[in-house]
Amino acid sequence: GARADDDLLRGLNPPQRDAVTYRGQALLIVAGAGSGKTSVLTRRIASLLRNREAWPSQILAITFTNKAAGEMRERVQQLVGDSAQSMWISTFHSACVRILRREAQQFGFTKSFTIYDSGDSRALIKRLVKEHEADAFGLTPASVQGRISKLKNELADAESFARQANMSDPAERLFAEIFADYQRALQKANAFDFDDLIAQTVYLFRAFPHVADVYRRRFRHVLVDEYQDTNHAQYALIHELTRPVVGDAEPYAAGGMMIFEASEAPELEGASLTVVGDSDQSIYAFRGADIRNITEFERDFPGAKVVLLEQNYRSTQNILSAANAVIGHNFDRKDKKLWTDVGDGDPIIGFTGYSQHDEAQFVADEVEALRRKGVDYAQMAVFYRTNSQSRALEEILIRSAVPYKIMGGTKFYDRAEIKDALAYLVAVTNPADELAVRRILNKPRRGIGDVTETTIARYAADEGITFRDALANASALGVGPKIQHAISHLDAVLAEATEIMLPSSGEVAPPAAVTEGLTLLLNKSGYLDALRISKDPQDEARVENLDELVAVTREFARNNPEGTILDFLTEVALVSDADDLDDASGSVSLMTMHTAKGLEYDAVFVTGVEEDLIPHRISAGEPGGPQEERRLFYVALTRARKRLYLSLAMTRAQFGEVSVAMPSRFLQEIPHELIDWRQSPGDVNSRGGSRSRALNARRPGGGFGGSGGGGAGGSGGGRYGDDLVPLPRREKPVGSIEKFANRIPAKVRDNSDLELAPGDRIRHDDFGDGRVDMVTGEGAKRVAHVRFDSAGAKKLLIKIAPISKL
Ligand code: ATP
Ligand code: MG
Repeated sequence: GARADDDLLRGLNPPQRDAVTYRGQALLIVAGAGSGKTSVLTRRIASLLRNREAWPSQILAITFTNKAAGEMRERVQQLVGDSAQSMWISTFHSACVRILRREAQQFGFTKSFTIYDSGDSRALIKRLVKEHEADAFGLTPASVQGRISKLKNELADAESFARQANMSDPAERLFAEIFADYQRALQKANAFDFDDLIAQTVYLFRAFPHVADVYRRRFRHVLVDEYQDTNHAQYALIHELTRPVVGDAEPYAAGGMMIFEASEAPELEGASLTVVGDSDQSIYAFRGADIRNITEFERDFPGAKVVLLEQNYRSTQNILSAANAVIGHNFDRKDKKLWTDVGDGDPIIGFTGYSQHDEAQFVADEVEALRRKGVDYAQMAVFYRTNSQSRALEEILIRSAVPYKIMGGTKFYDRAEIKDALAYLVAVTNPADELAVRRILNKPRRGIGDVTETTIARYAADEGITFRDALANASALGVGPKIQHAISHLDAVLAEATEIMLPSSGEVAPPAAVTEGLTLLLNKSGYLDALRISKDPQDEARVENLDELVAVTREFARNNPEGTILDFLTEVALVSDADDLDDASGSVSLMTMHTAKGLEYDAVFVTGVEEDLIPHRISAGEPGGPQEERRLFYVALTRARKRLYLSLAMTRAQFGEVSVAMPSRFLQEIPHELIDWRQSPGDVNSRGGSRSRALNARRPGGGFGGSGGGGAGGSGGGRYGDDLVPLPRREKPVGSIEKFANRIPAKVRDNSDLELAPGDRIRHDDFGDGRVDMVTGEGAKRVAHVRFDSAGAKKLLIKIAPISKL
């Protein structure tokens, strides 16, 4: 008969169908890129709901990024309607925060705990390393932080580390002490660092089985995407959640969620577990991800069903053949070959620039060419191995007036003014968080220096009160009247904001209180005024960023009618690499290859395909390093649906030095007939003359496969190479050219007064003479649409373009 989920199965191939309909305890879906793993997971959730086999509240789905979670929620919603709203679809970190917010009081935290990002924990560790004078033993804040993180991912805490460490080694002993102090400091500040979110949840479940049981009863279906990138702590968490409930638990109420009478509690088998992954896409070993979690799934979950998917629905055969060939060079893998029935598609386009600017110009030109062919900007992505590579790309994209956004990278939330604003909020929600209170103590400058800060800290210690509470006793500190007044003022502002966001009446403040409280803090503290009267041009941008943050709180209030200040801070703390504030629509996405995981675009540019970048230099010495780099490259290639571009530069300036770059070995692994070189390493080599270390000829007649195509970038390479006027380094990569225009200091080039009208002839430093077709935008955001006599059609941001009127 007809199943309620019939329409969900339509269009699926037989193994995909199996994966959606199988109803056993454990299911492992292993498959190559683009074979529908995430789609199947989504449909499986929809099918459980549609057949009334589960309530939305009984499903826990784990994705790798918040963005992926949002997309999955949207897709489930399309399939089953609004019941998807209340479902837990989230990252490991978000799920754990939700659990900890409910349960933290079980073990000495409060629900208003702060989440320390890696910058916060670095600051704390730095202080501890200094206090212990540990640098004398070769311990740096970075190494200590890395090691603590690694230990936490393996679920080793400070005590267990101390037990097995070699304590006769002074460096080891020091590290153990710092680790323990760090944990104590976190506890005192009522804070968890990122790794703690997972590790402490596991700890909670193990130490308090009756708490764990609440969640085991609740989540009857646990589904995990990108399982190949789970680390040990995450693996343990899944294990804890899917254990059977034994039934002798104590009566317990979890944050008002549900109450079970122990005696009546039935024994309950463990939740069903579905995991999907691809060991060829495991790219987080450096963060403790363990590929064995996937290879040993059948051992860990006896009787598990395994489904293999091999048909790829994303990419053309040319792209797949290239990806298959590359990953085939890894030796420790099960061979699987992806195939598609959509046909060969376009050839892969290769390009070698003389410099990274030349390479970037090629990318910009091709982006525009695709745009003219009707490909949306939003359907194009540019990948690179390291964040620092984005700068050259950005410069050229800005000049070419191509709208773009950076995913991840320098984060909005890493900016000093944003961190200050958030510290103000944290000082309100979690007054125990001394780091936050200290951060805002003299921001804006109110004459409270280090000496006063120490005085306050000492007073707090003597009185046995928190640093925050000490501010309320300014008159007892023995400081001068001016400073006393400044402290009292700060205290009063914090108190007023507290009353708005966490009313003493106990009433739950509406989400709009976040906006109100933040605005009050920024205004009454004098923070905004200090920026406004400043002569530093950067400060103008800072005011804008704070405006943007206020706008974020408004949006939060709109999207979360029940949201509280804690929900807001959680959301902000968990914004990850792949997530961004801005709406991506209408712009090209720039990101690292790591961030690209799970995403897909019609056209993909993989840039910097050079030795030392991909594979990255640091991978050379690591066991398995080059293999992991190959997987990363495989991830990058398999993001492309229809068009794939591989580009590199023969010289690259990095860390202030220009060096000769070598084509990546991975290029050699791609069958040469798959790549159509617009300008091959050989071309550049022969013209460049002395660059003899370039990739050797691999086709009779020399070169790297000829220079067929003769596209935009093909002639006169190096045109824009070395004579670029460098643009100023910006703190934050900004999404659109419009936004960027506001941030370009006037002294670089200011054509603000240049009047241009359709029909005007202009001269451009790089592109030569041309005619203006149209002018759009206003003020600093004016864009000239120019048809150049030889360089073709370009859009130029008038304010900065090197142009003059003829
Ligand atoms: P990755 O390994 O990159 O995470 P994946 O295995 O999760 O990839 P999906 O993202 O689920 O793959 O699917 C890739 C593309 O193929 C998506 O656009 C999806 O909509 C499409 N797709 C999946 N299955 C089918 C199918 N049976 N018919 C048509 N399109 C499909
Ligand atoms: Mg996927």
